Amino acid sequence: MTVRNKLGAQALLWTCGTSSEELREVIIRAAAIGYEILELVFPDPDAIDVNAVRVFLQDAGIGVTGATALAPSSDISSEDSTISARGEEILRKAVRAVAELGGTQLCGMLCSALHKYSSPATETGRANSVAALRRVADYADGFGISLCSEIVNRYETNLVNTTEQGLALLKDIARPNVKLHLDTYHMNIEESSMEGAVLMAGDRLGYVHVGESNRGYLGSGNVDFASFLRTLLLGGYTGPIVFESFSSAVLEPSVSSQLCVWRNVWDNSDDLAAHAYAYLTTAVESAERGLRGYRWAGSQPLGGKRDLPGPGGKQ
Ligand code: MN
Repeated sequence: MTVRNKLGAQALLWTCGTSSEELREVIIRAAAIGYEILELVFPDPDAIDVNAVRVFLQDAGIGVTGATALAPSSDISSEDSTISARGEEILRKAVRAVAELGGTQLCGMLCSALHKYSSPATETGRANSVAALRRVADYADGFGISLCSEIVNRYETNLVNTTEQGLALLKDIARPNVKLHLDTYHMNIEESSMEGAVLMAGDRLGYVHVGESNRGYLGSGNVDFASFLRTLLLGGYTGPIVFESFSSAVLEPSVSSQLCVWRNVWDNSDDLAAHAYAYLTTAVESAERGLRGYRWAGSQPLGGKRDLPGPGGKQ
């Protein structure tokens, strides 16, 4: 049985580097393991030679998505219009970079900065974020790109921490190409029910990160991936499933500190990435086997257009 959701790996499993040579190495390693998508992370989209990297991706036969995380100095939810405008410009550059690389999705921490806020989000800050994302969404639409805004935990943003809040933000943005990006690491902290969150997101879910509760090897922590993946499939999710994990063994000190990586749970990128690929392939296939024959009895499908395999695995 083939896994129909594309499995992806984030480039930060191997390096924070953005030189063509470093990215070429990452592309080759991810593709060799079997990943169908590489998620490139660009805090600074200008740093990547998109023409060179696009060729490397094509040569390796691997797809691409883009991710970014705004900094406090480029926070679109800031009440300072200069800071908000700086963030909006970075998002536009990231959209353009994804388009030039041949991708269709920009994910990550788009709606605010990724850092620990010391006070609640303000009405003005939220309105600035909504307005900026609406404009960036319209810009992205011209390239056929969707924005997938990641829902992260309370220690990394003050704007949106749950799927319910994310859907409210999407409603205010009111653009069909703005979707939710859910991440099991964050959901494990904030959601009352991961399964409930997936079903609530429905067809507004555009992107998924699988990360363990300790940010390490899948299966080494508290996340129930079997249940999560079953619910993803039941809910009709057909988008990418991308593995994310962090270690200061490969991260630059500034990025390690931003992500609060104070201890390492792994030091071998290839071993970690290969383990995750095998784990996810088996888990997704097992979920599909378990769901054979189940049908949603409601008048409307739960989420997207996914058809579950029928008895015997027939479509
Ligand atoms: Mn994530």
